[in-house]
Amino acid sequence: MLPEPSLRARFVISLDFELYWGVLDGTELRDYADHLDGVRDAVPALLETFASHRIDATWATVGMLLAEDFDEALEAAPSYRMLPKSGHRCPYRYASLERVMPRAGGITHRRRHFARDLARHIVSTPGQELACHGYAHIGYLDARPDPDALRADLLAMRAIASRTLGVSPTSLVFPRNQFDDAAIAASVDAGFPVHRGTSGKSFEAPAAKEDERGTRRLLRGLDAIADVAAGTRTVGRRAGSIDVPGSRFFRPLRGVLDPFGELELRRIERELRAVSETGGVYHLWFHPHNFGRNLRPNLARLERILQVAGELREAGRMTSVTMRDAAKDAA
Ligand SMILES: [Zn+2]
Repeated sequence: MLPEPSLRARFVISLDFELYWGVLDGTELRDYADHLDGVRDAVPALLETFASHRIDATWATVGMLLAEDFDEALEAAPSYRMLPKSGHRCPYRYASLERVMPRAGGITHRRRHFARDLARHIVSTPGQELACHGYAHIGYLDARPDPDALRADLLAMRAIASRTLGVSPTSLVFPRNQFDDAAIAASVDAGFPVHRGTSGKSFEAPAAKEDERGTRRLLRGLDAIADVAAGTRTVGRRAGSIDVPGSRFFRPLRGVLDPFGELELRRIERELRAVSETGGVYHLWFHPHNFGRNLRPNLARLERILQVAGELREAGRMTSVTMRDAAKDAA
């Protein structure tokens, strides 16, 4: 007899696909250009790796990157907008400036912001889910909390995905993992009944950028290698949406010699095996731009994890699913 749906072991991978829109608030383009340029190789390489290990993954994509250029990104923007509080960079203002004063760099510059072709590649690869990561990647708590503006932002993302790719996403990853119950309710209203919740660990609870203190960062760093706190491992419900909680951020190598890299991998392997025994969901997440530098060594690290997931699948103890499919367990 099959175990209860909530006890089946599921392995979920979600990627926040955002290009420069994801780091614009806090990082200068020139300081991150090599990571962004590397995304053009990272996305096809990740798709190939997932295909060879039979991994289904969810790609939470920023709506703006589906535009061809800054003109289209502004034209497809919602008329009622989320706007970041002072102290944060505004993507709309940034795009307007780029439109009137284009920077040099031609196609290279454009590709650091736009990648409809890569999104098409994702959509045409079997087992991959295109999901939503907001239209303009503004953190809900970094803006004046306004559920109506969030709803308009999410609808704009769906509209551009449907017009340019012919898909209608239903899973959502909130930009910067920032949300509250009102935000979740607005997202359900906008047609997103599934979201990636946080791990349940206090230092990973949604917080505005200015509340990201050193202690939270330190605890997250420690938690990557040692048992600091237990996390949520079942698909649940919150404010009318199905919560497929993120378990762990899959950290990229900090350099070729990364003293913590091996410890982190072993920790993830242990956690995967533990979930395969108890049931529930193990959900890794990262960004394609994390693989934009040191692509091959980062892929080799990911393959170590995927090999364990493959063994567990062969043993009938765990399956790889998208967020959308993981949510069906709670439906
Ligand atoms: Zn993001």
